Amino acid sequence: MTANRRHKRRVRAAAARTGESYTAAKRRLLQHEELLMRTYNMKPAGVTDIGNVRESNEDHLLTEGDLFVVADGMGGGVNGEEASRLAVQVLRDGFAADPTGPGLARAVQDANAAVLDMAAQHEPKTFGTTIAAAGLIDEDGEARLGVVNVGDSRVYLLRDGELRQLSHDHSVVADMVRAGQITETEAEQHPERHRLTQAIGVSSDVDPYQTVVEPLDGDRLLLCSDGLFNEVPHRELQHTLIEIKDPDVAVGNLVARANELGGNDNITAVVVDVT
Ligand code: MG
Repeated sequence: MTANRRHKRRVRAAAARTGESYTAAKRRLLQHEELLMRTYNMKPAGVTDIGNVRESNEDHLLTEGDLFVVADGMGGGVNGEEASRLAVQVLRDGFAADPTGPGLARAVQDANAAVLDMAAQHEPKTFGTTIAAAGLIDEDGEARLGVVNVGDSRVYLLRDGELRQLSHDHSVVADMVRAGQITETEAEQHPERHRLTQAIGVSSDVDPYQTVVEPLDGDRLLLCSDGLFNEVPHRELQHTLIEIKDPDVAVGNLVARANELGGNDNITAVVVDVT
C-alpha cells in the first residue's frame, strides 16, 4: 500500500472512531503530527528474546512513530503469542486514529475486547496478555507522554539519574506492597509474584491504569516485560541505563544480563530516548 493510501485509510478510521467528518479528522491528525514535529524526537530501540527456559516467545513489542508497546502473552505457546500480537496491533490502530489520552485508554479497551473475542472462538479459552504502552499524546495542544498498562509489564522513566516506575502493576504482590504488608524487596522473591489481578482478554471488565507526564529533553524510557525486572535488580537496570548512552547497546545489554541471571521467562525491553 502506498503512503498516500495508508494515510487516507488512517483518516477514515479516525473519522469513524470519533464521528467527525473526513476533513475534520484529516485536520486533527495533521495538527497532531505538526505538534509532535515541533516538540519531541523519540529514538527507540527494542529487543525481545525467548530466554533460556521457555519453548516459545509469547512477548511482543512495538516501536512505531511515537508509540511504544510491550505485551506479555499468557496461555502457553500459540495462545499467548496470538493474544499479545493481537493486543499490540489493536492498540496501535486505535492510537493512530485518536492519539490522545482518552484515545489511548479506549485503544486498550478495544484490545481487551478483541482478545476476548478471539478467546471465545477457541477451546480451551486460555488467552490473555499484559500490555504496557507509552505514546506522545495531544493534550489541549501540548505534547505529553501518555502511559497506560494492564497487568505487570512496566513503563519506567529515567530522569535526573533516577529510574522510577510510571506504570502500576496489577499483581497480587503489588497490592500487598501498596497495603504495606510486604516490602518491595520481599515482593521480588515472593512465591505469588507472577499472579496478576488484571490482564487483557480475561474479563470484559478491565480497568487500565493511566498517567500523563510532561516529557523533558534527556528523558529515557524503559518498557519491559517481567522477564527483565524479575531477573535484573532495579539498581542494575538504573545503572545500565545511566551508563550506556546508545539505546541499542543499552537494550541489548539489559536483555543479555537477564539471560545471564537465569532467563527464566521471555524477556522484552524497549529503551526510548527523548530529545
Ligand atoms: Mg513474562
